[in-house]
Amino acid sequence: MADAITEATAKLLLDEETGEMVSKNELAKRTKKRAKKALTAKNKENAPPKPAAAAPKPKERADEPSLDPEAMFKQGFLADVHAERPVKPVVTRFPPEPNGFLHIGHAKAIAVNFGFAKYHGGECYLRYDDTNPEAEEEKYFVAIEQMVRWLGFSPYKITYSSDNFQRLYDLAEKLIELGRAYVCHCNDEQIKAQRGGENHGPRFRCEHAEKDVETNLSEFRGMRDGKYKPREAFLRMKMDITDGNPQMWDLAAYRVLEKPHHRTGDAWRIYPTYDFTHCLCDSFEGITHSLCTTEFVQSRVSYEWLNKQLVEHQPMQREYGRLSIQGTVLSKRKIMKLVQEGYVRAWDDPRLYTLIAIKRRGVPPGAILEFVNELGITTAPTMIQLARFDQTIRRYLERTVPRLMLVLDPIPVVIEGAEEVEVDVPFNPKIAAMGSHKIKFTPTVYIDRSDFREVDSKDYFRLAPNKTVGLLQAPYPIKAVSYSKDEATGKVTEIRAVFDKETKKPKTFIHWAAAGSRKVEVRLFNSLFKSEKPDDAEGGFLNDINPESEIVYPDALIESGFDEVKARAPWPEAAGESELGKGGPESVRFQGMRVAYFAVDSDSTDDKIVLNKIVSLKEDAGKSQG
Ligand code: ATP
Ligand code: MG
Repeated sequence: MADAITEATAKLLLDEETGEMVSKNELAKRTKKRAKKALTAKNKENAPPKPAAAAPKPKERADEPSLDPEAMFKQGFLADVHAERPVKPVVTRFPPEPNGFLHIGHAKAIAVNFGFAKYHGGECYLRYDDTNPEAEEEKYFVAIEQMVRWLGFSPYKITYSSDNFQRLYDLAEKLIELGRAYVCHCNDEQIKAQRGGENHGPRFRCEHAEKDVETNLSEFRGMRDGKYKPREAFLRMKMDITDGNPQMWDLAAYRVLEKPHHRTGDAWRIYPTYDFTHCLCDSFEGITHSLCTTEFVQSRVSYEWLNKQLVEHQPMQREYGRLSIQGTVLSKRKIMKLVQEGYVRAWDDPRLYTLIAIKRRGVPPGAILEFVNELGITTAPTMIQLARFDQTIRRYLERTVPRLMLVLDPIPVVIEGAEEVEVDVPFNPKIAAMGSHKIKFTPTVYIDRSDFREVDSKDYFRLAPNKTVGLLQAPYPIKAVSYSKDEATGKVTEIRAVFDKETKKPKTFIHWAAAGSRKVEVRLFNSLFKSEKPDDAEGGFLNDINPESEIVYPDALIESGFDEVKARAPWPEAAGESELGKGGPESVRFQGMRVAYFAVDSDSTDDKIVLNKIVSLKEDAGKSQG
């Protein structure tokens, strides 16, 4: 009998409007009724009727993505870039500054650089662009590499711009010898004046540009040897101030910074700039396609100019649009503020969009890559709403994780005359390969407080006095006969019910947990900010904080299938997580039926499991349910 039950309930579908599990027929009926109602409402407004329901989506296989996972390399920007220089092997680099944690935008850069090389059978370097000793810290180096590997990529080599300090220095002397660089002693104001403009007249060079090679060499060595304080001297490239592009107006190549460096210690007191370092390091590493974001479009000229002066191998720089997410903040300074003022618990708080936070929340790395792939790569900046990211995660989880029953706010239902039975439940009715597990159905079960109403109504289909509801996978539907309440709080404390063997097909099924189920803490997340544009809030983004961004259920109950789901993690068996070993707690992922998708939080201990909501089951469930 249990098998027949399983088969019937396996076919149930989620009614997104009510959060109920219902049969296909029932769902069709409800949809039709709602469409009719919507139409009448529209007609009342005298608006022309619109097609009521959206066209049915083409059938997809539950366990397959809807888009070619390599689409981003086959069309658009990356296809063009490869067509322009179809060399073999392709060599790229991902060059983060180790001055903060990576965020969702960096995931795009990782997918672009590592993915492009991988797609073409080439290699990608992870290069720490560590030329600014002031902001670098060990923890960032470690976290950056971990995130790259978590996303499923293996750097060909891990390099540091600072490894090239001597080589870069020698090339700077060479540039001076070529008459293409000079030591300048101007201050900011003077430099600004030299750039010309409306109130400054035409562009011009300062007198320092006229010094001979010997003088420049000796002053540059003086910079190196500590003869100058910061800002007293800097090395400038002698470019082309008649060019319309400001990136050709004698950019800085080296500056004095009396700071020890994370890797080179006190060896240097001068450090090369980004403009001097990046293109040369690209050349040293044999980069074929140097892919960066569009803020660097203007820099392409200086990038090519410097490489032509000094080195043989000429990489090709091309620029793609940045990825920005609406409804959150990504800047280091702002996240720091959120952490320091206690709005979030840390840099990896699941409500943030740093990669460590997204990971902790339980978003699988594959879903992030799918998201980037779906957006496609173009030269236009991409501004995306959080809901769009959620949508991709939801679809990804739908086809990759098992399902379990999780009751957030349990109330006991005592079913008179019921006996304990064992039922066999599929981990995912749509994916037979996930197998099944046995759970106990006990005479007392726990249902969610929100699935019981003291006062019944016509359009309500869950449990109420004298009303029948199906319990997922249970032998029979149940009918409530009475309930008790706590006088002081007014809260229902227990429901008494009986099996309703007459009702063969209940309208609705709800989830439950057996007596003896494990107690867990569940953290439901909503957007950290109230608006799409927290930065536009009066008085700043802190005034836009959503007071209900985290709702905790301390006494939730999880069914016993959880133990097997935990033992079999990671879900899914993503490349990146496997490479890191077994995967962290966040790789224990499942759908809490009718509730949301969940993952185990890193705050969990052997005795206490904490679950994070990854994403809701439908678009705005977060708003209504918390
Ligand atoms: P932020 O200021 O947001 O920390 P950044 O540009 O200073 O970003 P880097 O560490 O220099 O960060 O970035 C490493 C690489 O990641 C660069 O190639 C950069 O262009 C790319 N990148 C950074 N942010 C984004 C984004 N939002 N979308 C796409 N690529 C990005
Ligand atoms: Mg930067």
